[in-house]
Amino acid sequence: PRQFFVGGNFKMNPATREAKIALAKTLNDATIDQSVEVVIAPPAIYLIPLQEALRKDVKVAAQNCYFKTNGAFTGEISPAMLADSNIPYVILGHSERRTLFHETSQEVAQKTRAALDAGLSVILCVGETLAQREAGETAKVVEEQLEPVIAALKPEDWSKIVVAYEPVWAIGTGKVASPAQAQEAHLNTRSFLSSKISKEIGESTRIIYGGSVSGGNCKELSTQPDIDGFLVGGASLKPEFVNIINSRQ
Ligand code: 13P
Repeated sequence: PRQFFVGGNFKMNPATREAKIALAKTLNDATIDQSVEVVIAPPAIYLIPLQEALRKDVKVAAQNCYFKTNGAFTGEISPAMLADSNIPYVILGHSERRTLFHETSQEVAQKTRAALDAGLSVILCVGETLAQREAGETAKVVEEQLEPVIAALKPEDWSKIVVAYEPVWAIGTGKVASPAQAQEAHLNTRSFLSSKISKEIGESTRIIYGGSVSGGNCKELSTQPDIDGFLVGGASLKPEFVNIINSRQ
């Protein structure tokens, strides 16, 4: 059985340190399902204070990293630096990075390789735009995003990867994928991993859904057989995040 995973991607929010500590306190005071892996991704500057403020059963993740260990790369943070600060996870390939910062799937693969080499686990984001979905290209787009990563990884690396299926049209729009749409994409993705790597890895890799997940829609999504959790943006900044963590209860 795949352990249910709920990530909170704060993106570049909220504006103040106090607001982030308040979110940590909400989580610290909540009753959370102990069978769920919970990971919070604040902006990099808040990783260490938030990790210190959070209960020990909630982990933190960086939202990005570079693929070099050190050097003249102004503004970047290396996987080795994250590992050195005991940050266990990094989100890579988020659609906002691909779109706004022009990250290619090749670069995402390089970063994934580097993160694993540094000992990090990776939340690897993939997903199609509305135009791609309407053109019937959802599976093809996700497969093309995964292919360079598959080429860069050894089979044993996949135990440290969580794939986040995040259709771009659902991110921050309030237009959540229907349980059937998400299930179909997750099953396709799992079948692709099974055929490209091995059946065992296809079956064991967690595939989580992201895109307008809320306290109201999480329960039905969480019962789909190939949805192993969520990557939550906006709702991770609100008390309903606790309901999303506990969605299978
Ligand atoms: P929203 O939950 O705000 O749609 O964001 C999803 C997301 O991008 C998580 O990484």
